[in-house]
Amino acid sequence: MCFAGNTDLGLSSYEIENMKTLLAILAHPDDESFGIGGTLAKYAASGVAVHYLCGTRGESGTVDVDRLHGFDDIAALRTAELTCAAKELGLAGVHFLGYRDSGMAGSADNALSGTLFGAPLDEVAERIAVHVDALRPDVIVTHDQFGGYGHPDHIKLHQATLRMYEHKYGVMIDVSQWNGSTRPPHLHVNVAGAAAAPALYFTTIPKGLVRFGVRLLPLFRQNPRRFGRNGDIDLVQISSWEVPATMVVDTRQFVMHKERASACHASQQAPAQASPIVRWMFRRGAGKEHFSRIYPPPSADEVRRVRVSDLL
Ligand SMILES: [Zn+2]
Repeated sequence: MCFAGNTDLGLSSYEIENMKTLLAILAHPDDESFGIGGTLAKYAASGVAVHYLCGTRGESGTVDVDRLHGFDDIAALRTAELTCAAKELGLAGVHFLGYRDSGMAGSADNALSGTLFGAPLDEVAERIAVHVDALRPDVIVTHDQFGGYGHPDHIKLHQATLRMYEHKYGVMIDVSQWNGSTRPPHLHVNVAGAAAAPALYFTTIPKGLVRFGVRLLPLFRQNPRRFGRNGDIDLVQISSWEVPATMVVDTRQFVMHKERASACHASQQAPAQASPIVRWMFRRGAGKEHFSRIYPPPSADEVRRVRVSDLL
Protein backbone atom coordinates (compact mmCIF):
# COMPACT_ATOMS: atom_id res chain seq x y z
CA MET A 1 0.00 0.00 0.00
CA CYS A 2 1.33 3.42 -0.81
CA PHE A 3 -1.31 5.63 0.71
CA ALA A 4 -2.63 6.39 4.17
CA GLY A 5 -5.34 4.04 5.34
CA ASN A 6 -8.49 4.53 7.40
CA THR A 7 -6.59 4.96 10.64
CA ASP A 8 -5.69 8.46 9.44
CA LEU A 9 -9.37 9.44 9.28
CA GLY A 10 -9.81 9.52 13.05
CA LEU A 11 -12.23 6.59 13.09
CA SER A 12 -12.61 4.11 15.93
CA SER A 13 -11.82 0.45 15.30
CA TYR A 14 -15.59 -0.25 15.61
CA GLU A 15 -16.39 2.30 12.89
CA ILE A 16 -13.67 0.92 10.62
CA GLU A 17 -14.94 -2.64 11.18
CA ASN A 18 -18.48 -1.63 10.13
CA MET A 19 -17.59 0.51 7.14
CA LYS A 20 -18.73 -0.66 3.75
CA THR A 21 -15.84 -1.26 1.39
CA LEU A 22 -15.61 -0.68 -2.36
CA LEU A 23 -12.61 -2.07 -4.25
CA ALA A 24 -11.83 -0.78 -7.73
CA ILE A 25 -9.55 -3.17 -9.66
CA LEU A 26 -8.18 -1.32 -12.68
CA ALA A 27 -4.97 -1.45 -14.67
CA HIS A 28 -3.15 1.89 -14.54
CA PRO A 29 -2.63 5.05 -12.54
CA ASP A 30 -5.33 7.36 -14.08
CA ASP A 31 -8.00 4.68 -14.73
CA GLU A 32 -9.43 5.46 -11.27
CA SER A 33 -9.85 9.15 -12.12
CA PHE A 34 -10.52 9.58 -15.86
CA GLY A 35 -13.28 6.95 -15.90
CA ILE A 36 -15.00 6.55 -12.55
CA GLY A 37 -13.46 9.29 -10.41
CA GLY A 38 -16.85 10.83 -9.63
CA THR A 39 -18.21 7.55 -8.33
CA LEU A 40 -15.15 6.80 -6.19
CA ALA A 41 -15.24 10.32 -4.71
CA LYS A 42 -18.98 10.07 -4.06
CA TYR A 43 -18.74 6.86 -2.05
CA ALA A 44 -15.61 7.94 -0.21
CA ALA A 45 -17.46 11.11 0.85
CA SER A 46 -20.43 9.06 2.05
CA GLY A 47 -18.29 7.01 4.46
CA VAL A 48 -17.47 4.01 2.30
CA ALA A 49 -13.86 2.78 2.49
CA VAL A 50 -12.87 3.08 -1.17
CA HIS A 51 -9.70 1.22 -2.14
CA TYR A 52 -7.87 1.14 -5.46
CA LEU A 53 -6.02 -2.01 -6.53
CA CYS A 54 -3.90 -0.92 -9.46
CA GLY A 55 -2.49 -3.56 -11.81
CA THR A 56 0.63 -1.68 -12.95
CA ARG A 57 2.46 1.60 -12.43
CA GLY A 58 1.77 2.82 -15.97
CA GLU A 59 5.36 2.40 -17.18
CA SER A 60 4.36 2.41 -20.86
CA GLY A 61 2.57 5.75 -20.77
CA THR A 62 4.00 8.44 -23.01
CA VAL A 63 5.57 11.12 -20.82
CA ASP A 64 7.25 14.40 -21.77
CA VAL A 65 10.89 14.25 -20.67
CA ASP A 66 10.68 17.45 -18.63
CA ARG A 67 7.97 15.93 -16.43
CA LEU A 68 10.43 13.25 -15.28
CA HIS A 69 12.58 15.81 -13.49
CA GLY A 70 12.90 14.72 -9.84
CA PHE A 71 11.68 11.18 -10.50
CA ASP A 72 13.72 8.01 -11.05
CA ASP A 73 11.48 6.82 -13.87
CA ILE A 74 7.97 6.88 -15.35
CA ALA A 75 6.72 4.42 -12.71
CA ALA A 76 7.79 6.76 -9.89
CA LEU A 77 6.21 9.78 -11.59
CA ARG A 78 2.92 8.01 -12.22
CA THR A 79 2.83 6.56 -8.69
CA ALA A 80 3.18 10.11 -7.35
CA GLU A 81 0.37 11.25 -9.67
CA LEU A 82 -1.84 8.43 -8.38
CA THR A 83 -1.10 9.36 -4.76
CA CYS A 84 -2.17 12.93 -5.57
CA ALA A 85 -5.39 11.68 -7.24
CA ALA A 86 -6.17 9.33 -4.34
CA LYS A 87 -6.10 12.27 -1.93
CA GLU A 88 -8.44 14.28 -4.17
CA LEU A 89 -10.87 11.36 -4.39
CA GLY A 90 -10.67 10.58 -0.67
CA LEU A 91 -9.52 7.00 -1.17
CA ALA A 92 -8.85 4.88 1.91
CA GLY A 93 -5.95 3.04 0.26
CA VAL A 94 -4.01 2.41 -2.94
CA HIS A 95 -2.50 -1.01 -3.56
CA PHE A 96 -0.48 -2.45 -6.43
CA LEU A 97 -0.58 -5.90 -8.02
CA GLY A 98 3.09 -5.56 -8.96
CA TYR A 99 3.00 -6.00 -12.73
CA ARG A 100 4.52 -3.92 -15.49
CA ASP A 101 2.38 -1.93 -17.93
CA SER A 102 2.07 -3.87 -21.23
CA GLY A 103 1.35 -0.92 -23.54
CA MET A 104 -1.39 -0.89 -26.17
CA ALA A 105 -2.03 -4.00 -28.29
CA GLY A 106 0.82 -4.60 -30.72
CA SER A 107 3.31 -2.28 -29.04
CA ALA A 108 6.89 -3.44 -28.38
CA ASP A 109 6.26 -3.27 -24.62
CA ASN A 110 3.92 -6.29 -24.93
CA ALA A 111 7.01 -8.52 -25.07
CA LEU A 112 8.78 -7.12 -21.97
CA SER A 113 9.15 -9.36 -18.94
CA GLY A 114 6.90 -8.88 -15.93
CA THR A 115 3.98 -7.38 -17.84
CA LEU A 116 0.40 -7.83 -16.71
CA PHE A 117 -0.55 -8.95 -20.22
CA GLY A 118 2.12 -11.68 -20.15
CA ALA A 119 1.40 -12.99 -16.64
CA PRO A 120 -0.36 -16.34 -16.12
CA LEU A 121 -4.08 -15.69 -15.53
CA ASP A 122 -4.22 -17.84 -12.39
CA GLU A 123 -1.29 -15.94 -10.90
CA VAL A 124 -3.00 -12.58 -11.44
CA ALA A 125 -6.23 -13.99 -9.97
CA GLU A 126 -4.26 -15.22 -6.92
CA ARG A 127 -2.70 -11.81 -6.36
CA ILE A 128 -6.15 -10.19 -6.57
CA ALA A 129 -7.50 -12.75 -4.08
CA VAL A 130 -4.83 -11.79 -1.52
CA HIS A 131 -6.11 -8.19 -1.55
CA VAL A 132 -9.75 -9.29 -1.52
CA ASP A 133 -9.03 -11.47 1.54
CA ALA A 134 -7.42 -8.52 3.31
CA LEU A 135 -9.99 -5.86 2.40
CA ARG A 136 -13.20 -7.98 2.32
CA PRO A 137 -15.00 -5.62 -0.10
CA ASP A 138 -18.79 -5.41 -0.38
CA VAL A 139 -18.46 -4.25 -3.99
CA ILE A 140 -15.84 -4.79 -6.69
CA VAL A 141 -15.58 -2.66 -9.84
CA THR A 142 -13.39 -3.68 -12.78
CA HIS A 143 -13.02 -3.26 -16.53
CA ASP A 144 -15.48 -4.79 -19.00
CA GLN A 145 -14.57 -7.63 -21.37
CA PHE A 146 -13.37 -5.17 -24.03
CA GLY A 147 -11.16 -3.38 -21.55
CA GLY A 148 -13.14 -0.20 -22.21
CA TYR A 149 -11.10 0.82 -25.24
CA GLY A 150 -9.25 -2.44 -25.88
CA HIS A 151 -6.13 -2.05 -23.73
CA PRO A 152 -4.58 -5.52 -23.14
CA ASP A 153 -3.96 -4.79 -19.43
CA HIS A 154 -7.60 -3.83 -18.92
CA ILE A 155 -8.78 -7.04 -20.58
CA LYS A 156 -6.35 -9.14 -18.54
CA LEU A 157 -7.52 -7.65 -15.23
CA HIS A 158 -11.13 -8.20 -16.26
CA GLN A 159 -10.37 -11.86 -16.98
CA ALA A 160 -8.35 -12.30 -13.79
CA THR A 161 -11.10 -10.77 -11.65
CA LEU A 162 -13.63 -13.24 -13.13
CA ARG A 163 -11.15 -16.08 -12.49
CA MET A 164 -10.85 -14.92 -8.86
CA TYR A 165 -14.67 -15.07 -8.53
CA GLU A 166 -14.59 -18.60 -9.92
CA HIS A 167 -11.80 -19.87 -7.64
CA LYS A 168 -12.76 -18.04 -4.46
CA TYR A 169 -16.57 -18.04 -4.62
CA GLY A 170 -17.52 -20.70 -7.16
CA VAL A 171 -19.17 -18.03 -9.32
CA MET A 172 -18.48 -18.67 -13.01
CA ILE A 173 -19.38 -15.70 -15.17
CA ASP A 174 -19.45 -15.89 -18.97
CA VAL A 175 -19.94 -12.53 -20.65
CA SER A 176 -18.45 -13.56 -23.99
CA GLN A 177 -21.85 -13.41 -25.66
CA TRP A 178 -22.90 -10.17 -23.97
CA ASN A 179 -22.38 -7.65 -26.74
CA GLY A 180 -25.37 -5.50 -27.55
CA SER A 181 -27.75 -8.13 -26.25
CA THR A 182 -30.40 -7.30 -23.70
CA ARG A 183 -30.08 -10.76 -22.21
CA PRO A 184 -28.12 -10.76 -18.94
CA PRO A 185 -24.72 -12.50 -18.85
CA HIS A 186 -24.58 -16.23 -18.31
CA LEU A 187 -23.70 -17.25 -14.78
CA HIS A 188 -23.06 -20.58 -13.19
CA VAL A 189 -23.20 -20.15 -9.45
CA ASN A 190 -22.10 -22.46 -6.67
CA VAL A 191 -24.63 -21.16 -4.17
CA ALA A 192 -22.69 -22.13 -1.04
CA GLY A 193 -19.65 -20.06 -2.01
CA ALA A 194 -21.58 -17.32 -3.75
CA ALA A 195 -23.23 -16.16 -0.53
CA ALA A 196 -19.97 -14.44 0.43
CA ALA A 197 -19.23 -13.01 -3.01
CA PRO A 198 -19.08 -9.21 -3.30
CA ALA A 199 -21.30 -7.50 -5.84
CA LEU A 200 -19.46 -7.13 -9.15
CA TYR A 201 -19.75 -4.23 -11.59
CA PHE A 202 -18.02 -3.44 -14.87
CA THR A 203 -17.32 0.13 -15.86
CA THR A 204 -18.99 0.86 -19.19
CA ILE A 205 -18.49 3.61 -21.74
CA PRO A 206 -21.78 5.07 -23.01
CA LYS A 207 -21.68 4.15 -26.68
CA GLY A 208 -24.06 6.94 -27.69
CA LEU A 209 -21.35 9.45 -26.77
CA VAL A 210 -18.69 7.43 -28.62
CA ARG A 211 -20.84 7.25 -31.78
CA PHE A 212 -21.47 10.98 -31.51
CA GLY A 213 -17.69 11.50 -31.34
CA VAL A 214 -17.18 9.31 -34.42
CA ARG A 215 -19.49 11.62 -36.39
CA LEU A 216 -18.22 14.85 -34.83
CA LEU A 217 -14.42 14.45 -34.89
CA PRO A 218 -14.00 14.50 -38.70
CA LEU A 219 -15.67 17.94 -38.70
CA PHE A 220 -12.69 19.11 -36.62
CA ARG A 221 -10.17 17.38 -38.90
CA GLN A 222 -9.58 14.61 -36.32
CA ASN A 223 -9.57 10.95 -37.27
CA PRO A 224 -11.86 8.93 -34.96
CA ARG A 225 -9.85 5.82 -35.84
CA ARG A 226 -6.67 7.43 -34.45
CA PHE A 227 -7.98 9.06 -31.29
CA GLY A 228 -6.06 9.90 -28.12
CA ARG A 229 -2.66 11.31 -27.38
CA ASN A 230 -0.83 8.43 -29.07
CA GLY A 231 -3.37 7.98 -31.85
CA ASP A 232 -3.89 4.36 -30.81
CA ILE A 233 -7.58 4.44 -29.88
CA ASP A 234 -10.05 3.41 -32.60
CA LEU A 235 -13.38 4.99 -31.68
CA VAL A 236 -15.10 3.37 -34.69
CA GLN A 237 -14.20 -0.09 -33.38
CA ILE A 238 -15.04 0.84 -29.79
CA SER A 239 -18.50 2.04 -30.85
CA SER A 240 -19.25 -1.53 -31.98
CA TRP A 241 -18.44 -2.99 -28.53
CA GLU A 242 -21.67 -2.87 -26.61
CA VAL A 243 -21.68 -3.73 -22.92
CA PRO A 244 -25.17 -2.85 -21.74
CA ALA A 245 -25.17 -0.49 -18.76
CA THR A 246 -27.58 -1.54 -16.03
CA MET A 247 -27.29 1.65 -14.02
CA VAL A 248 -26.03 5.20 -13.91
CA VAL A 249 -24.43 6.71 -10.81
CA ASP A 250 -25.32 10.38 -10.37
CA THR A 251 -21.96 12.07 -9.75
CA ARG A 252 -22.96 15.68 -10.48
CA GLN A 253 -21.84 16.83 -7.03
CA PHE A 254 -18.42 15.24 -7.55
CA VAL A 255 -17.48 16.57 -10.99
CA MET A 256 -14.92 18.92 -9.43
CA HIS A 257 -13.39 16.09 -7.36
CA LYS A 258 -12.99 14.09 -10.56
CA GLU A 259 -11.49 17.04 -12.42
CA ARG A 260 -8.98 17.73 -9.64
CA ALA A 261 -8.02 14.04 -9.44
CA SER A 262 -7.71 13.85 -13.23
CA ALA A 263 -5.50 16.96 -13.21
CA CYS A 264 -3.06 15.06 -10.93
CA HIS A 265 -2.33 12.80 -13.94
CA ALA A 266 -0.83 15.68 -15.90
CA SER A 267 1.75 13.42 -17.60
CA GLN A 268 -1.10 11.54 -19.29
CA GLN A 269 -2.81 14.58 -20.75
CA ALA A 270 -5.69 14.94 -18.35
CA PRO A 271 -8.98 15.85 -20.08
CA ALA A 272 -8.52 19.52 -19.16
CA GLN A 273 -5.37 19.57 -21.32
CA ALA A 274 -7.04 17.95 -24.33
CA SER A 275 -8.33 19.65 -27.48
CA PRO A 276 -11.49 21.81 -27.19
CA ILE A 277 -13.66 19.20 -28.90
CA VAL A 278 -12.49 16.45 -26.53
CA ARG A 279 -13.03 18.72 -23.53
CA TRP A 280 -16.55 19.41 -24.79
CA MET A 281 -17.24 15.68 -25.11
CA PHE A 282 -16.03 15.08 -21.56
CA ARG A 283 -18.23 17.89 -20.27
CA ARG A 284 -21.21 16.41 -22.10
CA GLY A 285 -20.74 13.14 -20.21
CA ALA A 286 -19.92 14.78 -16.85
CA GLY A 287 -22.01 13.97 -13.79
CA LYS A 288 -23.08 10.51 -14.96
CA GLU A 289 -20.97 7.34 -14.75
CA HIS A 290 -22.26 4.09 -16.25
CA PHE A 291 -21.89 0.57 -14.85
CA SER A 292 -23.04 -2.93 -15.67
CA ARG A 293 -23.94 -5.06 -12.67
CA ILE A 294 -22.72 -8.57 -13.30
CA TYR A 295 -23.16 -10.21 -9.91
CA PRO A 296 -25.78 -10.63 -8.59
CA PRO A 297 -26.95 -10.90 -12.20
CA PRO A 298 -29.26 -8.16 -13.48
CA SER A 299 -32.77 -8.90 -14.63
CA ALA A 300 -33.65 -8.48 -18.31
CA ASP A 301 -35.63 -5.39 -17.30
CA GLU A 302 -32.58 -3.83 -15.63
CA VAL A 303 -30.60 -4.34 -18.82
CA ARG A 304 -33.36 -2.89 -20.99
CA ARG A 305 -34.02 0.23 -18.92
CA VAL A 306 -30.98 1.88 -17.41
CA ARG A 307 -31.79 3.71 -14.19
CA VAL A 308 -30.00 6.09 -11.89
CA SER A 309 -28.99 3.94 -8.94
CA ASP A 310 -26.22 3.25 -6.44
CA LEU A 311 -23.51 0.61 -6.30
CA LEU A 312 -24.08 -0.08 -2.60
ZN1 LIG B 1 -5.70 1.99 -18.19
